Amino acid sequence: MTKSDTVLVVGAAGQIGTELTAQLIEHYGHQHVIAADLRKPENFRNDISFELLDITNSSALLEILQKHKITIVYQLAAMLSATGEKFPMKAWDLNMKGLMNVLELAREGHIKQIFWPSSIAVFGTTTPKTNTDQLTITEPNTVYGISKLAGERWCEYYFNKYGVDVRSIRYPGLISHTSEPGGGTTDYAVHIFYDAIKQGKYECFLKEDTRLPMMYMPDAIRATIELMQAPAEQIKIRSAYNLSSLDFTPEELTQAIQKIIPDFVISYAPDFRQQIADTWPQSINDEAARKDWGWKPSFDLNAMTEDMILQLSKKLNKKILV
Ligand code: NAD
Repeated sequence: MTKSDTVLVVGAAGQIGTELTAQLIEHYGHQHVIAADLRKPENFRNDISFELLDITNSSALLEILQKHKITIVYQLAAMLSATGEKFPMKAWDLNMKGLMNVLELAREGHIKQIFWPSSIAVFGTTTPKTNTDQLTITEPNTVYGISKLAGERWCEYYFNKYGVDVRSIRYPGLISHTSEPGGGTTDYAVHIFYDAIKQGKYECFLKEDTRLPMMYMPDAIRATIELMQAPAEQIKIRSAYNLSSLDFTPEELTQAIQKIIPDFVISYAPDFRQQIADTWPQSINDEAARKDWGWKPSFDLNAMTEDMILQLSKKLNKKILV
């Protein structure tokens, strides 16, 4: 990104968008970052330039690109895994059209660089479960995973065929305290903290031994910005990079929380999200991201847990670690 570039974050009001937009402003300044979303939440920061946008409407997107002289787009708008299983056709439509509109406008020369997130949902029941490789079997079993895998193939296609500078990460489940998650299978790892702080107990929708790859949001945001800042010749993978940081089960997360809130209790009532989680890997091999652009996580389970409880107890006005 140079001084003449301006960034558009689509899906800026979501769990990742809220924090990514804030960090991009820290890096590049208010005048170089525009937020866009289908909705503007009442508590959205009013010091950020905001545009209402339906990403499936290509001409509305083009108008915003031209109005703000946008050169870089972070396209985050999507329907997530759990909600996607309830509305498969809507998920497919939004997840594919949102990406294709951005790729096409880049091909036509309206966008210089794109970030689009993929997910560990590209893996499926036939994928080896532990230390899952970058290149492995990808037979996703959810509409969300199918849309992410198709999206990865399109990203690589647009790079190879048209030279579009598109970059992507297969995010694991993301844990954050600023805004709440938007209907994914790993959402329990955020809800558990709210309930632990507010009422000292939580009913988990996954089984106690369900191990999933996860990441604390500050690491995910740093990875995203580092990937986008890396010199183009270092980006060897134009589908999406595996990215790893933490993996844990609800039981292990409970033990980490109990080190700070000893009376916290968890109960288990697995629902349809258990079937989705059962199709995903337990841990991820991210050698390629480490080698190509120097990725290195900084939060382990205990550091993440301590920071979540500290930040949320301030936000919820509860005296735990404040
Ligand atoms: P989220 O659901 O919290 O936010 C998505 C945002 O997109 C919402 O603010 C929503 O209003 C907006 N949106 C929906 N439809 C839109 C449309 N038609 N036009 C414009 N905006 C629209 O999701 P998130 O967790 O922030 O995820 C962002 C991206 O990261 C998604 O592509 C998701 O698949 C990917 N991802 C997230 C996770 C995670 O754990 N959160 C993990 C892997 C990948």
